Amino acid sequence: MNHIEYKVKNICFVAGFGALAVFLCTVYLFILRDVIRNETENYMSEISGKTVQIVQSEISDNFSDLEMAAKAVEFLSKEKSSDQKIMQFMETVGNTYGFTRIGIVREDGTGWLADGHAIDLSKEEYIKRAIDGEQAISDLTVSTIDKEAVLIYAVPIRNQDEAVCGALVWSRSVESLHDKLKIKTFYNEGHSHLLKKDGTFIIETEQDVMKQGTIDRFLENGCTGIGAAEIAVLMDNLQNGTGGMLFFGKDGRAYVGSYAPLGINDWFLLDVVPQEIINGDFNRVMLIGAGIVMSFVLICLLLVVYVWRLQRGHVEKLKNLAFEDPVTGGGNITYFRENARRMIRHASPGTYAMVSMDINSFKLINVTFGQEAGDRTLKYVYEILKEGLEPGEIAARMGQDRFRMLLKNAPVEQLVKRLAENVERIGRYNEKLESKYFLSFSAGIRVVDEPDDNIIIIGDQANMARKKAKLRPAPDGLLSWAVYEQQDKTELMRSKEILDAVDRAITNHEFAVYLQPKIDLRTKKLVGAEALVRWILPDKTMIRPDEFIPTLEHNGQISKLDLYMFREVCRILKDWEERGFQAVPISVNFSRVNMSQSQILDQYQKIQTEEGVSSNLLEIELTETMIQGDMEYFGQFMDEIHHLGYQCSLDDFGSGYSSLNTLKDLSVDVLKLDRQFFRDQGGDGEKEKKIVRGIIQIAKSLGIRTVAEGVEEEDQVKMLTEMGCDMVQGFYYSRPIPVSDFEEKYKKEIAG
Ligand code: C2E
Ligand code: CA
Ligand code: CA
Repeated sequence: MNHIEYKVKNICFVAGFGALAVFLCTVYLFILRDVIRNETENYMSEISGKTVQIVQSEISDNFSDLEMAAKAVEFLSKEKSSDQKIMQFMETVGNTYGFTRIGIVREDGTGWLADGHAIDLSKEEYIKRAIDGEQAISDLTVSTIDKEAVLIYAVPIRNQDEAVCGALVWSRSVESLHDKLKIKTFYNEGHSHLLKKDGTFIIETEQDVMKQGTIDRFLENGCTGIGAAEIAVLMDNLQNGTGGMLFFGKDGRAYVGSYAPLGINDWFLLDVVPQEIINGDFNRVMLIGAGIVMSFVLICLLLVVYVWRLQRGHVEKLKNLAFEDPVTGGGNITYFRENARRMIRHASPGTYAMVSMDINSFKLINVTFGQEAGDRTLKYVYEILKEGLEPGEIAARMGQDRFRMLLKNAPVEQLVKRLAENVERIGRYNEKLESKYFLSFSAGIRVVDEPDDNIIIIGDQANMARKKAKLRPAPDGLLSWAVYEQQDKTELMRSKEILDAVDRAITNHEFAVYLQPKIDLRTKKLVGAEALVRWILPDKTMIRPDEFIPTLEHNGQISKLDLYMFREVCRILKDWEERGFQAVPISVNFSRVNMSQSQILDQYQKIQTEEGVSSNLLEIELTETMIQGDMEYFGQFMDEIHHLGYQCSLDDFGSGYSSLNTLKDLSVDVLKLDRQFFRDQGGDGEKEKKIVRGIIQIAKSLGIRTVAEGVEEEDQVKMLTEMGCDMVQGFYYSRPIPVSDFEEKYKKEIAG
């Protein structure tokens, strides 16, 4: 997954989580709101029920008082008491029960009050009902006498035959009902109202939220949060005698109303309470609940973000570890392969060219200036190569001093020109220096003509071309290059043949020992030899070790060959001994692959004992690449070799990464200076000379003998003699030659 995909995925995750949280929170709040509304409704109808009961019992108390009085009046009339007596009685009763006025009407609705006032209530509906034998109550009426708002109660009065002959009426100030209608439980904030079924208010309490008029007009004018449809439902309910709930706002406050039929006339009782009072606790619960949910969601979200960041940091770190080259700070081999693979796959054939590049004799820098300077140089080279890239190209260090680039393909001359410009720019740091040192490079170019080709194979082929380049002279001394050709493919195929053939070759003795002499520079006499393998095929063609040893090392078969060569060398020495020769020590090469095989030295000793050769004629050549950071193990290994009685030499010194420093910690007998020290590097070679002289002197001071390898010229022999080098091994004296030729050539020295 690339970085952007990863980021998008994470953002989606957090967004998704956030959306889910908001959704859950909303659902929770909706449910809570519903529960609260239900609770409010239940609570309000309960309150309503109670106020209805209060009003009903007040009114029925009033009626029973009046009925009592009516019974008394009936009794007095039966006793034929005088009207005056009856009047007196009514006055007493009125005072006792707190009636404002009390009077009697006849069947025609006319009559008199206790105080003597004549009254005519013949048109009143409630009087008609009382005459019809019912208890009846008037709507709110303003008394004609004292202008007071009253309710008038009327009950029938019957004669001896139980027939209605009139009605007892009394009026009562509306105040008494007012008091009962106040809903005390709501901190005096709740109010009750009596309504007629057409919506007209009969009684309103003091601090009324509703003004005189009808409920629908009141709600329509100046109330919020209630629509025409809800008002219509209310009016319908009133008409049909059913109760219900009412939610509305007024002057910035929200109210809840509950109305229920009273069972008296067509009256309804309406209780109105500010919502915040009734819902005070619920609102708090809801707020706390919402707060808890929100905090929980927030904590979860923070946790998720935290874990995500932690993980991202981790992934980033791992990615850096996996893709970053610690030396250059740029991409490493994995980075290069991953990206190159992707780029090639998405491009048409021939878009890119893969370039493999390394620094010639880079080892000199490590040896001379130490690893830190070496690393600085690698970083510097990388920076320049990177600067030289065009958009859509990449570069990375692949390991050691090898670099790889994926460049836009172009005619070879152009590619080479770009590479040469890089090399030239790398050399620019010399501009201000007095003694100049130029880095030279080898480059292999492999045009990527098949997007499906394996990236590792493409890389191997670029490497192959680079190695080919090393064998060619550099036109300007600083860059040698070669292009991978199709026929080079056969070389790869050959490595498979090699592996298939190695066992057969060992059994058939196809591997031959060639000996190359080591000559003492003081006496110019033979003092030793190195055994170098040659593969002589049945058809007599000879394959050089460079062509098959890397392949055998690659899959571990090299140990077989090294043991075989050791046995062959033992046999030569034994043969010389038996023939009475003055034998010289012979060194064998020891592949670094053997180092990882435990008990390998036991096998060497076993062979030596079997062949019956004395150990002091044997020398093992280790290369400094075997150290690979584990000096302690390397030192122990050398000690074991000495324990077996063999000499131990350090081969190819100066071609690897060890520095002179390592020498003092190792019990090396012989130091073999790499051929690269003596190769023409361009320039005057003064620097190399200084290095070689230094190394020889240091080795001497540590009691280590020195062998200069690859010496081809007389000048070199002279120079090395003058520098105090102990021995040389090189074409100047002899190429590696078959044993019989060697015996022939040095018969004077060895045959005595
Ligand atoms: P090496 O151990 O550094 O051996 C020296 C190489 O330098 C030999 O290459 C030799 O032919 C070459 N040489 C010697 N003098 C000169 C000279 O004056 N000029 C030039 N240009 N070259 C010179 P050779 O025989 O091709 O072997 C190459 C490498 O193969 C050896 O390098 C060694 O690392 C490896 N090798 C050879 N035989 C064996 C073996 O039996 N076992 C193992 N493990 N490796 C072997
Ligand atoms: Ca060697
Ligand atoms: Ca060597």
